[in-house]
Amino acid sequence: MTTEQTYFRKGFGLKKEMKPLIDAEYQSALVERIRARGYTDTFGDVRVRLAQEFGFCYGVDRAVDYAYETVHQFPDKTIYLVGEIIHNPHVNQRMTEMGISFIYPSADGSFDFSGLTVDDVVIIPAFGVTLHDFDTLRGIGCILVDTTCGSVLHVWKRVESYARDGFTAVIHGKYTHEESRATASQVNKQVDGKYIIVRDMEEGRFLFDYIAARPGHLTREEFISRFEAKSSPGFDPDADLEFVGVANQTTMLASESIAIGMKVHEAMVERFGEEHAASHFRSFGTICSATQERQDAVEDMMQSPPDVMLVIGGYNSSNTNHLAHLCRQYTRTYHVEDAGCIDVENGSIRHKPELHPTAGEVLESDWLPEGPFELGITAGASTPNNKIGEALLRILSIRGIEVELAAAEGQPT
Ligand code: SF4
Repeated sequence: MTTEQTYFRKGFGLKKEMKPLIDAEYQSALVERIRARGYTDTFGDVRVRLAQEFGFCYGVDRAVDYAYETVHQFPDKTIYLVGEIIHNPHVNQRMTEMGISFIYPSADGSFDFSGLTVDDVVIIPAFGVTLHDFDTLRGIGCILVDTTCGSVLHVWKRVESYARDGFTAVIHGKYTHEESRATASQVNKQVDGKYIIVRDMEEGRFLFDYIAARPGHLTREEFISRFEAKSSPGFDPDADLEFVGVANQTTMLASESIAIGMKVHEAMVERFGEEHAASHFRSFGTICSATQERQDAVEDMMQSPPDVMLVIGGYNSSNTNHLAHLCRQYTRTYHVEDAGCIDVENGSIRHKPELHPTAGEVLESDWLPEGPFELGITAGASTPNNKIGEALLRILSIRGIEVELAAAEGQPT
């Protein structure tokens, strides 16, 4: 094979062939029905409201499609996925059933590609891989199917440009998340490129205070130690925070990303003065439009909050966690990983009540109101519609409400 034939970024032209199969596996007649009725429908004494934007985003749609195309294109080859295709247990389970093997990262986030050969096919997920991992895979010479989302590539370009111009990339994200790791690694396209990752406003304060040299700020050593795992090797806060450019993991809370960018700017003004700050600071909103639209739709819904809000999506899915976090500020919110968290037999629900991806699940009984109530539903960008439909059917079933559906739908068990 020539070099061109071992690297694919645009699928294999099989989208049309794959569509009926993918639709059959991930669509939901119930969800489509509610959508067609203006995102609201009533079942017995339960009024259901769907967020106006929810579920699979364009990047996930594309990644899932390419994975199916890959299986179709290379029926005789061993196919691997670097990590998870997306953060959804059901979709990943389907990948396994199709014969795709997963290469999981070790505790420090690194991948072991030593078992791969030139004959294998490797799918890169929607959040991308680090520059180092990409180079390793290219070096092996295996066939690469790259599903990295265009919105992620857009952030990479921004981060690379910061590094090229001598600016340290300040990334609002989770340093353990594949996407943030891959984004941060883009600075390595330049010699001496630097990055630092801040998780949230609370952690950002250490950075703002240090830049502005505010009273009580961390010492240089304390700063280095606190951000050691979250910054480029040899990061020196005295030298590397003179010129900074802000970016973010695409699935963070948009309002927090904007606020962090403003705080960094404020700190630069304090340090360099208004007229010089502009030449030391750059910013560019890199939340993807799909994440933004899902967060906006939930904010809209919360203008008149439902009695109970159900948020469906992987517990390690960043955008789902942020949707749940938003909803919790307005109403009783249940973040479930999958429809199976709702037990029709005993009426209980398993859910994650906190923002942190590794926070534990809790089991709750008697979680549904006694009388008529309004149920709001949304789902993260990696949740297929059939799982949304199935979750709703399970809730209705607990209430003893039967729904007639012509199309195959995940029935409560
Ligand atoms: S959430 Fe945004 S960046 Fe991530 S895959 Fe979807 S569209 Fe792309």
